[in-house]
Amino acid sequence: MASIFTKIINGEIPCYKIAETEDFFAFLDINPNAKGHTLCIPKQEVDKLFDLDEATYNGLMQFSRRVAKAIEKAVPCNRVGLTVIGLEVPHAHVHLIPLNNMEDSRFIKKETLSPEEFQEIANAIQANF
Ligand code: 5GP
Repeated sequence: MASIFTKIINGEIPCYKIAETEDFFAFLDINPNAKGHTLCIPKQEVDKLFDLDEATYNGLMQFSRRVAKAIEKAVPCNRVGLTVIGLEVPHAHVHLIPLNNMEDSRFIKKETLSPEEFQEIANAIQANF
């Protein structure tokens, strides 16, 4: 069965899209630690990040770097952090999180955003990609 992220890539589940290339896709996390929290994924559906073939792994890191630079320009923050967890969704992904303090890096404190706020931040990051 297709993962929830594959359904997002295919447009079967809506998302606030940030960027897409032939092999990779970025969109806002629906339950963000901080405003601008973004997920970067390979289109290829593989559960664990370190099980990706080397070219896809390196490509995902290059893509994530580009997205992180766009987040840095669009979202006021001290820096963008990169986290890999994968306990919830078995489709390899990188979390890019705008950080101002240690709390932002923890998956405990969550930010509540309106649809308009999600869309506004997605547009701002997209414009800098
Ligand atoms: P992990 O697998 O790294 O533990 O967490 C998966 C992340 O995906 C979570 O931060 C969660 O909020 C996010 N997530 C889960 N389902 C959806 C979804 O349907 N849409 C979006 N945009 N994010 C999701």
